[in-house]
Amino acid sequence: MATIKLNTGHAMPQVGFGLWKVDNATCADTVYNAIKVGYRLFDGACDYGNEKEAGEGVARAIKEGLVKREDLFLVSKLWNSFHDGDKVEPICRKQLADWGIDYFDLYIVHFPVALKYVDPSVRYPPGWAFDGKEDYQLSNASIQETWTAMESVAEKGLAKSIGISNFQGALILDLLRYAKIRPATLQIEHHPYLVQPTLLELAKEQGIAVTAYSSFGPQSFIELEWQKAKDTPVLFEHPVVTKIAEKLGKTPAQVLLRWATQRGLAVIPKSNDPKRLQQNLEVTQFDLADEDIKAISGLDRHLRFNNPTDYLGTLHIFA
Ligand code: NAD
Repeated sequence: MATIKLNTGHAMPQVGFGLWKVDNATCADTVYNAIKVGYRLFDGACDYGNEKEAGEGVARAIKEGLVKREDLFLVSKLWNSFHDGDKVEPICRKQLADWGIDYFDLYIVHFPVALKYVDPSVRYPPGWAFDGKEDYQLSNASIQETWTAMESVAEKGLAKSIGISNFQGALILDLLRYAKIRPATLQIEHHPYLVQPTLLELAKEQGIAVTAYSSFGPQSFIELEWQKAKDTPVLFEHPVVTKIAEKLGKTPAQVLLRWATQRGLAVIPKSNDPKRLQQNLEVTQFDLADEDIKAISGLDRHLRFNNPTDYLGTLHIFA
């Protein structure tokens, strides 16, 4: 399996499985089956509300001898409500307990937004709103305070690598001024409608590996019935993509994933369909021609779907 060498020296599989919107009822089986098919990286988060079930799938695979813990690369994320310096380690420990493991391979700051603390015994996962409805309250924690606590989590061995998600250029450069441990990875929304070449260049210059999420663009958000996604041409049917897929005898999904992996990014698609699971994993063994990569990059519309401004009407982090 293709891997990316992180700045911590650890090898991260280039293709993994994303756990967002994987139902609690099926999550354990989904993870177990994905391990059977060959997935080794799982991208989880407090916010996905399925870490216990994901851990059950992992435990079953280990118990049956399919894999050992050290064969897996388990990723989780710090939710916004736990950015205060004294809240980071306790929540990381709770998340580890939910997974039933004693370290994460990678633990990342989910969003550069500090929200007021919500006691996990009161509501978990807390989601965006302080009251669980629509009251968004910021905490005063700076990214520096949060990152220092993330470093402490790494120093204690609770995470082998630490990283960031949904951060943009200026904030990354600022973080690098004070970081004792540099972020190993940056996870961002990335697809042909949101190519972000300069952010990728910055990450490369700084030795930070990039993981693409929502690689199929609107697809993931059509499921959520978001109008903006429904109004956008589906990438699987875009003539630029389908033409390349036909030429190579691959599916449009594979072409989209290969476009990202060939440019050095890691990908974490999600599917519950056994055929697609297999397909999505096989996206490092064929090559697109340079002109095909350029043609796909040419579809850029600077179109972001996962933007709190759109779904909360506030917290304009991509302003
Ligand atoms: P995705 O790009 O993986 O798309 C999922 C959609 O594509 C689903 O509708 C699925 O049924 C469909 N699909 C998957 N494989 C297919 C195939 N081969 N052919 C046709 N359709 C296929 O979207 P995503 O779930 O938004 O992103 C992937 C992962 O990224 C998430 O599960 C999560 O782990 C992570 N993520 C992180 C953040 C963040 O803020 N850091 C945000 C969103 C997602």
